[in-house]
Amino acid sequence: MSGLVVQGVTVKAGERTILDGAGFTAPAGAVTGLIGPNGAGKSTMIGAVMGLRRLVRGTIAFDGANLPAMLPAERARLCAHVEQFATTTERLTVGDVVGLGRVPFQSAWQAAPSAQDETAVASALAAMGMATFANRLYQLLSGGEQQRVQIARALAQEPRMLLLDEPTSHLDIKAQLLVLDVLRAQAQAGCTVLLAMHDLNLAARYCDHLVVLDAGKVVAEGTPADVLDPDLLLRVYGVAATIVQVPGKPYPLVIYDSAPNTD
Ligand code: ADP
Ligand code: MG
Repeated sequence: MSGLVVQGVTVKAGERTILDGAGFTAPAGAVTGLIGPNGAGKSTMIGAVMGLRRLVRGTIAFDGANLPAMLPAERARLCAHVEQFATTTERLTVGDVVGLGRVPFQSAWQAAPSAQDETAVASALAAMGMATFANRLYQLLSGGEQQRVQIARALAQEPRMLLLDEPTSHLDIKAQLLVLDVLRAQAQAGCTVLLAMHDLNLAARYCDHLVVLDAGKVVAEGTPADVLDPDLLLRVYGVAATIVQVPGKPYPLVIYDSAPNTD
């Protein structure tokens, strides 16, 4: 299958098992949502796919290639990663930060960005609605603006796989929809898109495929309509919910009823 195939992945921190034999697929040309409560292992899974976490067991393949065995530079020409908490202490402009997405394609002796690099940076900034921000200092932007710049950096990388860890957590609703529309367009162009997210209604609307992680294990995987089931939401999140089908909308809507009393 083309896309990402994760099988039986176990990751530990010291003696503690963080991912416990977790497996799922993220097909090419689709948006896959990785959902699950805080601490379920979503960021650890994305880190494992990016080669940042050592696998105790399991395999991770992208388009049939063994991803953990790749050199970081080789992986960076295929996969872009937007971290949950991206920070920089450097005094970089927005244009510089987005330009970092082009580094995997530049040779050590290249004095200046190529015309192709400049086009990729400009179109990534435009896609995020940040074209007028290129000369602003990244450090001085708001959290939501920085988040859009990080996504632009990943888009400038023109990756075959995009991994995004809660990419809309600081965004207003319009910016959330903008980002998710851009990610859908990336998938339609053939990219494999995997994003960790919390908003189940946005997940239902934008994801073709959902993977539910709970305590390091994949407990459900399938279409939003298959996965978003009241029993599962109660079991995984401890929240009572009703799933409704709104006439004319092809995706389910989650209505949160209550968090049961845990006294
Ligand atoms: P999520 O992204 O789903 O909220 P994480 O993948 O960040 O969850 O973390 C999963 C669990 O593993 C959490 O309980 C977290 O505290 C723990 N964890 C993650 N990385 C480490 C680490 N390097 N050392 C110890 N515990 C860790
Ligand atoms: Mg996380």
